[in-house]
Amino acid sequence: MGAPSSTGHAVAVIGGATAGAEAAGRLAEHGCNVVVFEQNPRPYGKIEDGLPRWHVGLRNKEYETIGEKLSRPGVEFVPNTTIGEDLGFAELCREWGFSAVVLACGAWRDRPLPVEGADAYVGKGLIYQNPFIIWFNHSHEAGYAGESFEPKDGAIVVGGGLASIDVAKVLMLETTRAKLRERGIDVDLVELEVKGIPKILAGHDLVFEDLGLEGCTIFYRRRPEDMPLVEIPEDADEKRAAKVRTARGRLLEKAMDKFRFKLEPLSAPDGLIVEDGELRGLRFRRTRIEGNRVVPTDETYERRGVYVISSIGSIPEPIPDIEMKGELFAFTDWELGRLEGYPNVFSVGNVVTGKGNIVASRKHAGQVYEAALASYLGLGEDGHRGESALAAGTEAVREQTDQIADRLGDLPKPSPEATVSILEKAHARQKDVGYDGDYAAWIDKVTPKVA
Ligand SMILES: Cc1cc2nc3c(=O)[nH]c(=O)nc-3n(C[C@H](O)[C@H](O)[C@H](O)COP(=O)(O)OP(=O)(O)OC[C@H]3O[C@@H](n4cnc5c(N)ncnc54)[C@H](O)[C@@H]3O)c2cc1C
Repeated sequence: MGAPSSTGHAVAVIGGATAGAEAAGRLAEHGCNVVVFEQNPRPYGKIEDGLPRWHVGLRNKEYETIGEKLSRPGVEFVPNTTIGEDLGFAELCREWGFSAVVLACGAWRDRPLPVEGADAYVGKGLIYQNPFIIWFNHSHEAGYAGESFEPKDGAIVVGGGLASIDVAKVLMLETTRAKLRERGIDVDLVELEVKGIPKILAGHDLVFEDLGLEGCTIFYRRRPEDMPLVEIPEDADEKRAAKVRTARGRLLEKAMDKFRFKLEPLSAPDGLIVEDGELRGLRFRRTRIEGNRVVPTDETYERRGVYVISSIGSIPEPIPDIEMKGELFAFTDWELGRLEGYPNVFSVGNVVTGKGNIVASRKHAGQVYEAALASYLGLGEDGHRGESALAAGTEAVREQTDQIADRLGDLPKPSPEATVSILEKAHARQKDVGYDGDYAAWIDKVTPKVA
């Protein structure tokens, strides 16, 4: 375990994945003692449990990036520790003596399907995206003991974001592989994803229709050109925005050709079709788009499916001691993720941006570090303010940064005794969970083998 720096601030980071590791790495580089609390054995977050496992190269690259940051001198990794369960959030922020606490816990709960009573059918015809993808990413591992799902033909997928396309792809790739296995043909998942279903089938003198699959359908409340497959830049004029929308439509068509899923646009879930205590389908309400608004119409229609997978976004898991506003944390400031009653807390990544995007999470962690944490902890070049606030950020954040710096830039560093006490507590928790301070050896030990 790294020797404490007697001069540095002590900072806790909650969540060790993309955003948490970025913040931890930067803080340690600037002489802080950083304790990273991670609920899972491995700190890869949605890279491991969201990004589908056919992204082999990207996953490995991100694993390495996270590992490199968490192995830096000054970083103490504390796995298998859920803040809010194993340790209290308020206790961590107020009693341990940390100068700052960085909340990087992402968004792990599915946004509920907005039809009254739907959640009574979870496991009885209703599946949520997060457990489905976790199953897909882990079910081939030896000793997998989590929830299990069976990819079936003819599913209803409610969504419209990138993750719902991944859900549809999982269903199409796995049902195709199963059909091919029936014919004695074994196809590698990654190869099928890279080359696409029609191409692989052609190699076996088959076309999709030969498989007898109906395929799954994504039901989306907006139009194909609204799907966020390509971001519209904030400063885009109408001409540029129209170009992006056209590109989105083309990308979607390509994905539908390659993976053979279907799309039913302008459809919002509106009611349940229940038989014998099972969800058998949904009633949808036709919508129309006015400007950026989704407007319900009087028209409804019903669709039955083998099951319904809801993939309409992820929200943070509530943490006791953190006030919620609706389904989100009640941040008083949405740029820096500040919380009432916790002046030493800053939040980074998906928990505050709401963007399911690796680069966005990492960039946000860097921005909050530069704009606020560095100032707050006096880690900047003049020892008082951080780097120029949010190089790519907004005026509002810049103003806030200055306020934080003015108010808190002279935050006293903890005494060496206080630092030692924090690190002793962290080491005690590491011991409790069986982590001996050797990050690489731990990762090796807890990385599941493929069955
Ligand atoms: C199906 C799917 C496909 C995706 N595909 C892409 C893609 O192609 N490209 C792309 O850029 N992005 C993709 N994403 C999104 C991307 O993976 C995430 O947005 C990004 O990894 C989030 O990083 P983060 O660090 O902000 O949050 P997370 O990765 O969610 O990290 C949060 C960490 O905090 C830990 N944690 C949570 N609560 C606690 C607690 N109470 N105590 C301790 N630890 C806690 C978690 O275990 C986790 O390690 C996809 C997401 C999904 C779901």
